Amino acid sequence: MHLNTLSTLSLLTAAISFGLASTAQAAKPEAPYLSNSEFQQCLDGLKNSSKFRGVDSYTFNNYRPSQPDPSVIQSLNYQPEFQKDVWDYLSALVDKERVEDGIRAKRQWGDTLRQIESRYGVKPEHVLGVWGVESNFGQTLGKKPLFESLATLSCFDRRQSYFQGEFANALKIVQRGDIAPSDMAGSWAGAFGQTQFMPSTFLELAVDFDGDGRRDLVNSVPDALASTANFLDNRGYRTGEPWGYEVRLPDGYWAASDRKNKKSISHWRDQGLTLANGSPLPYDLSSAGLLLPAGKDGPAFLVGKNFDTFYSYNASENYALAIAHLSDLIAREDSSKTDFITAWPTNDPGISRQQAKDIQQALLDAGYDIGEVDGIIGDNTRSAIRQYQTSRGIFPADGRAGQNFYRLITQNSAQGSSSIRPSNPASTDRMGQLIQQRQTATPNVYSSEPSVQRTVQPASNVRYRRVTTSDGSVRLERIN
Ligand code: CA
Repeated sequence: MHLNTLSTLSLLTAAISFGLASTAQAAKPEAPYLSNSEFQQCLDGLKNSSKFRGVDSYTFNNYRPSQPDPSVIQSLNYQPEFQKDVWDYLSALVDKERVEDGIRAKRQWGDTLRQIESRYGVKPEHVLGVWGVESNFGQTLGKKPLFESLATLSCFDRRQSYFQGEFANALKIVQRGDIAPSDMAGSWAGAFGQTQFMPSTFLELAVDFDGDGRRDLVNSVPDALASTANFLDNRGYRTGEPWGYEVRLPDGYWAASDRKNKKSISHWRDQGLTLANGSPLPYDLSSAGLLLPAGKDGPAFLVGKNFDTFYSYNASENYALAIAHLSDLIAREDSSKTDFITAWPTNDPGISRQQAKDIQQALLDAGYDIGEVDGIIGDNTRSAIRQYQTSRGIFPADGRAGQNFYRLITQNSAQGSSSIRPSNPASTDRMGQLIQQRQTATPNVYSSEPSVQRTVQPASNVRYRRVTTSDGSVRLERIN
């Protein structure tokens, strides 16, 4: 998916879950009631509109949904309680498990990747980085029926015009026979296949690399990997260049994070920057911009044009950094250490998906209903963490699943205190209220976390939408 905040969100919610809970309950809005007669009337109108000119009436009628899917409107209007910190975002996307999966994929698809490199000039690890972040190397494609999702989004709520175009493009894809209709499933916003392309991106850039005459980004790994390389090449990829590297800033150096303000390597050498390990900057980038994802005290990077092509896949700097970092670790074939050399400015770093599963299992063992152990920290898990913290007098009871909570609950589990169950939820709730009052009176009283801006859940009668900004953070925008 590229250059589209809606598809960005669909990817991110598939890969990880946003948000950290606090005293307020994070809540998905209720699925709205959608009138089917209004829906069918809308589809009648679309069928004859200019956007659907290239779609024959057999295709339109055959794949025309009989009902709208209210859950996609629910997803469209999901309000996150908090922004996700960059270190949480990266630790879930670039963990030991994903690096190991990537190293295996590199060996399995080595010949294909070399052929792709000779045709498109894109390094194997860069293709693998995108594949791993987009669909977990083909394991997470999304299950929403595309025609229902896109038709519903074409007829209700915001951005109907955009989704009408994507609905028409999705119909054109099956009309041309590239993808079997039964394979047209993906994210709620319509991104699909191993590359998670939106239908418009598919029509523009998908390629048939295995030579069977179909561009099948769902079932053909060679087609998917070559289409990714074609995408990066099309967006300006420079053959032979790295994406960039982690750097060390000289003492007292200050500069804004400005990836687009590209300078020569000589310029950055003159400024006193080195690689993060202290070595001189190599001259293998034609130009580079400075990226400081967490400000001057966190890891710093010089990034070149190839980083920008990752960015164009999803319009988020943190997303592009996840691809960049994953690709380096896959190239190095080293899953032992997934951190950057410079630590993130936090005393509570993020957790891997395995650690998220361990937390969920420990919560289940302690009697909290968190649903399925899936490694995704969603509303249920955050709510259970908050209750667990509250019942043990942990303050603030913020529901955050970081390294601190991971250590706490796994140690408690090991000591057998996991048998303590929240036998009286009412008293737990009262304790929660008391702690909340304390927290309101003396905010951050013993939290030494850095002041990362977090967006509080708005009043329920005001509608907001989530917007991913260019730096990858998520904010709420009021809808009038
Ligand atoms: Ca093919």
